[in-house]
Amino acid sequence: MNHDDPPQDELDPYDTEPGPDPAQDAEPVPPLSSPTSTSPNYAAPVSPEPTSLFCIQCGYNLTGIAIGSTCPECGRAVAPSFYGQTLPTSGKSVASLVLGICSIPACVFYGVPAIICGILAIFFAKQAKAQFKAGKAGASTQPMATAGLVCGIIGLCLGLLYLLGIVAFIIFAINANP
Ligand SMILES: [Zn+2]
Repeated sequence: MNHDDPPQDELDPYDTEPGPDPAQDAEPVPPLSSPTSTSPNYAAPVSPEPTSLFCIQCGYNLTGIAIGSTCPECGRAVAPSFYGQTLPTSGKSVASLVLGICSIPACVFYGVPAIICGILAIFFAKQAKAQFKAGKAGASTQPMATAGLVCGIIGLCLGLLYLLGIVAFIIFAINANP
C-alpha cells in the first residue's frame, strides 16, 4: 500500500486544481489556436485597412490616397469611402425603405395612402442619399435608399393609376347614365 500512496499524491494536485488549468498546461495547442483564430476576425473589421479600400462610386482602388482628396477616377470625395464602412446607416434610408415597401400594398382608399407613402419614401430616399454623399451615413445607406426610392416610385405610380382609374370610372359612369 505504500507503493500506491506516491502515485495517488501525484494524481491529487491534478484532481484538486480546476479543470481548465491542467488542460492548458498539458496541451499548448488550444491556447495557441484560439488567439490566432479570434484575432483576425476582430482585427479585420475594427482596423480600417487602406489596402482593401475602394471608391464607393466607381470602385477605384484608393490605396495611399489622402482622406481629404477626391477619387482620381470619378472625382468623388474620398471621405465617404473611408467613413462609410464605419458610420451607422441613415435612419432616413430605413424610413424610405419601410415607406416604399408599404406604399405598394397601400393601394386602398382610392390609392391615396400609396401616393402619400410613395412621396414620403422618395423624399426620405433623397435625403438619405444626400447624407451618404456628404459622408454622414454608412455604406448600407445607399442600397437601402435606392430600394426605398424604387419601391416608393412603384407605389406612387400604382396609387396614381388607382386614383386616375377611379376618376375615369366615375366620369365614364356619369357620361353613360345621363
Ligand atoms: Zn471613384
